[in-house]
Amino acid sequence: MSISYVDPMWGTVDRVHFLRISKHFTCNCQRCSDPTELSTHVSSIRCQQAGCLVNSNKAKGLIAPEQTEEKEWKCNSCNEIYPPVYFMSIVEKAGRELEKLHQKYGNIEAEEEFLRKFGKILSPNHFYLLEVKLGLAQIYGRTQDEPLPILSPKKLCRKLQLCEELLSVFDVLLPGTLLLWNFIFIKKKHSIVHFRLQSFKSPHPLRKTGSYGCFFQDEESSGRDLLPETQGGAHCKQIK
Ligand SMILES: [Zn+2]
Ligand SMILES: [Zn+2]
Repeated sequence: MSISYVDPMWGTVDRVHFLRISKHFTCNCQRCSDPTELSTHVSSIRCQQAGCLVNSNKAKGLIAPEQTEEKEWKCNSCNEIYPPVYFMSIVEKAGRELEKLHQKYGNIEAEEEFLRKFGKILSPNHFYLLEVKLGLAQIYGRTQDEPLPILSPKKLCRKLQLCEELLSVFDVLLPGTLLLWNFIFIKKKHSIVHFRLQSFKSPHPLRKTGSYGCFFQDEESSGRDLLPETQGGAHCKQIK
């Protein structure tokens, strides 16, 4: 049995620092001792070597912060070594931009732009990106002009994708009993329900094809491009 004194969404550096100054101990749990944080890479950045940039994913082409500066901080694919100071400067820059973004809370376009921009230099599961994704997963379908029942299929797919991405990290880092996990799980279910409801309301109903077929027929830019590997993606990819 374990109790977390600190926000599990923070990266190791922040958690360890907080515990040292507030609780006066150094945590040696499995996650805190592992630079990859149980292979989630929530504190890692992306390698900028050309080959790695093309092929990097949630597990590869990433640099995890070592616990000391004496160790080499290197890419887990090409072994390129990165100076810790470079690593920190990237994370600090993202942190400053995120603070500016907080002043625009609810601005979907600004939040998506942050994900696009910093998705190129931070690990896909980096805690700064997770924070923005968590906000976005809630905002989609809750704006005045586009409440969930009339949310466009493309945005509905995006909401689902965000829920899937968050869940894949929470499954590892947060025990299933935590409120946050349940919250996202419920949100995801909620989205799926509305997804189905909408498909029945569409002019080409689901029951004709037994799948989500036709649902996006008239959408020039549908959500299927957005969702390569997630379960939500599978829903959208069934549409031919
Ligand atoms: Zn720990
Ligand atoms: Zn690399």
